[in-house]
This record gives sequence, structure tokens and C-alpha cells, in this order.
Amino acid sequence: MTISTFTPGAIAARCATSATHVAIEVVAETGSTNADLLARLDTLDGPLLRIAENQTAGRGRAGRSWLSTPGAALMFSLAWRFKGPLHRMSGLPMAVGVALAETIASLGVPVRIKWPNDLLRDGKKLAGILVETQAARKDGDGAVWAVIGVGINLLMPDELEEQIGRAVAAAPWLAKMDRSELMAALLSRLAAVLAEFDDTGFAPFAERWNLLHAWQGRDVVILDHGQVLQQGRAAGVDAIGRLMLDTEHGRVEVLSGDVSLRLSSTIPSSIGLS
Ligand code: ATP
Repeated sequence: MTISTFTPGAIAARCATSATHVAIEVVAETGSTNADLLARLDTLDGPLLRIAENQTAGRGRAGRSWLSTPGAALMFSLAWRFKGPLHRMSGLPMAVGVALAETIASLGVPVRIKWPNDLLRDGKKLAGILVETQAARKDGDGAVWAVIGVGINLLMPDELEEQIGRAVAAAPWLAKMDRSELMAALLSRLAAVLAEFDDTGFAPFAERWNLLHAWQGRDVVILDHGQVLQQGRAAGVDAIGRLMLDTEHGRVEVLSGDVSLRLSSTIPSSIGLS
């Protein structure tokens, strides 16, 4: 498989002004770009994008794995320093979802967002987002670093789909694009969204998120370690990125944490759906 030009210089040259201050590095292989950046936060002076052409220990939430094969996915992490406070960061994965979904759609691949942090194409997972935060130790003053990890399936070889164990999506159209061009488009939009989020929090993004909501009005359950925590009808997100659920006892708001969202229709009765 040929991998098109993918160098920091080529990406930087294609970025909008929103991202010109972001340092960029590309590595052929690493365990996890999120783990790499988390380990370096104390040494960073500004935003840093780290791209890996292959990850051997890609991470999802709650210790889950993100699987890939070389050249088949776009995988990167972006370290970004926010003013804080820390509790505001709970809306960040959803703001990142908006940035990525809008960019990917503008490149001709319509996607929707599954709360809190997945992008779906035709109902199947095309991309995952993992945001990890840490209070800034150097000149802290309430500041918070976020490491925003993103994996986007460009191609999906059968063996990989088998390994993942569920139907997943790919975007061959994006795979044909110049990778530096694609990365620059994503980084430019992300940087603009992150700067705005730092000033305003999630509130101005809620409406945009709701327009992209994959499961609006669908019956869903919230699972926590395999147990049903809530069930109801998905009603979009509120101004801080919580999922609003209309249950038989009225509306409840769910904070993302490590909970998982599923369509009710996919849940076996054995795990307690009444
Ligand atoms: P949940 O669906 O429980 O909310 P999640 O979708 O948020 O979890 P993450 O932790 O973000 O899951 O990502 C890890 C999960 O994604 C894995 O458990 C696996 O099912 C799935 N996965 C792993 N690699 C890929 C991939 N390349 N494409 C799509 N899905 C993948």
C-alpha cells in the first residue's frame, strides 16, 4: 500500500492560521500517541501534534483497545493547554466530535456522532476519540492539559474487522486523499474549535452537536461495566455536553465518564433491561 506524503512540513504548509502555532511530529510506529504525549506534558511549551503511521497499543476508554494495521488508519494525538477549570473539560470530547465530524463531512463523507465520543458512518464506528486530561504542573494556575487522541479508519481490511469483532466503517474516499492535506484540514478545524472551547466551554457547540447526533429520539440504554444504569429516549446534549435522556421518571442528564451508550434494541434482556 502506498502512503502519500506525510511530513510535518507538508502538513504545516497546508494548515490554516488557527493551527500555525502547533508543533507537529510524525513517527513510523509507537505504542500509543496518547501515552507518549501524556508522558511529556511537563516539558511542553505549546500545542503538539503527534502522528503515528502505526500504533501497537492504541487505547480506547476504560482500558479498551483501539486496533489498526499500518497505513489503514489516520491516528494522532494533540496535546493542548486550556485555561481550565478541570470540570469544564467534560464537554471537550463532544466539541472534538463536532470538529472532526464537520471536517470529514466537508470532505464528502457524511458522519454522525454517537455520544460521547464516536463518529459513525452508516451506523458503524468510523472513528474514536479519547480525551485524557491532567492539571498543568508548570505555571499551573488552574490550567489543564488535554491529550486528544483520534483514530479514523481509512481502510478496513477483513482481518482487522474480524479482530475488532464488530462491524466497523472505513472511508476509502479519504484514503485516496493526500494524507498531509487530510491531516491539515482536521488539525486546522480542531485548533479553531479548541481555542473557542477554551474561551466559552461547550455551550456554543451544543446545537451543532445535536444536528450531528446519530441516535436522536432513539431508545437507548446507558451501561456501566455491563450493568444498565439508565434507559430512555436520547434527546441530545445539554450546554455542558451531558446526554439528555427522557426516561419514564422524567428527564435525566448523564455525564460521560466511562459509561457506554447502546441502542435498546441491541441489549439482551439478561442484563436487566425492563
Ligand atoms: P462504548 O461503545 O462502550 O461506549 P467506545 O465505543 O467509546 O465504547 P472506545 O473505548 O472509544 O469505545 O474504543 C474502544 C472500542 O472500539 C473497542 O472496545 C472496540 O470495540 C472498538 N474498536 C477498536 N478498534 C477499532 C477500530 N479500528 N474501528 C472501530 N472500532 C474499533
